[in-house]
Amino acid sequence: MAAPLSASRLVEALRAEGVTVHEVPGWRTNNRNHKGAWGPVNGVLIHHTVTGPGTDVVNLIYDGHSALPGPLSTGCITKDGVVHLTGNGRANHAGGGDGRVLDAVINESYSGRPPATQKHDGSPGAVDGNARFYGWECENEGDGKDPWPRVQYVAMVKATAAICRAHGWGAKSAIGHLEWSDWKVDPRGIDMTDFRRDLAACLALPAGQWKGNDDMAFGDDDVKKLWYGDHIPAVPPPYNNADWLKGNKTWTAKYAIHTIAASGRETLARVKAIEAKVTSLEVGGVDLDALADKVADKLAERLAE
Ligand SMILES: [Zn+2]
Repeated sequence: MAAPLSASRLVEALRAEGVTVHEVPGWRTNNRNHKGAWGPVNGVLIHHTVTGPGTDVVNLIYDGHSALPGPLSTGCITKDGVVHLTGNGRANHAGGGDGRVLDAVINESYSGRPPATQKHDGSPGAVDGNARFYGWECENEGDGKDPWPRVQYVAMVKATAAICRAHGWGAKSAIGHLEWSDWKVDPRGIDMTDFRRDLAACLALPAGQWKGNDDMAFGDDDVKKLWYGDHIPAVPPPYNNADWLKGNKTWTAKYAIHTIAASGRETLARVKAIEAKVTSLEVGGVDLDALADKVADKLAERLAE
């Protein structure tokens, strides 16, 4: 059981964690508290926005829309990693969910994943999640293809850590919307087990110290640079089409390193072959000092003539 953080306390916690905070004007009084309870709070829910480029996603989350009035979450985390605060209090983000999941979150009693939810908004016995969860709406098309930029993912972990740390919660207090409501799929493209692993690593360090895990440190751009150096072609050659970038980055990196090592061995073999030829010409082992002496002698002879 925990009383919700005040707006100022939340901002302070986010800044301590090292995230870039943007307070949308009016957010401190923007909420749905007149429609139902806000608190006791027990966790953080992660969402995707199902929006693409050109959508004013921050205002959408602040205002909501005709079918679903805002705020639609505590904040919106855009692809650039900025945490835009949009709601202070109850927000229309979680909807109904499974009480067994809530218990597992409160007790942080599960390993891996919470029990599979069997409820959603409006189903019999569903629990009101909007009273119990903070929510981060994270900008993503939600089609399973739209990538999650590293800077955004790191901000999502840190913003969640800010709330968990302020309440004294562990990583199991953060769940995906799909773990709360059985008809949801968000955040698509993020495995919440991985997310909680990263969140636990962040919480294990003092606030503001976590920089992201090693897997993430090796991004698509790094893979391209490894292959192409600084001359990344606008159109990748056919043997190296976009498919490999969608694949396993560790594998791609290992393959690239293997290829570089192989070409290094080939280069070395060629250098050795050239060295052998030069030696066989019997000009190898030229002594520059002796040569200089000879030239000097010759010059002296000429001058003496
Ligand atoms: Zn959602």
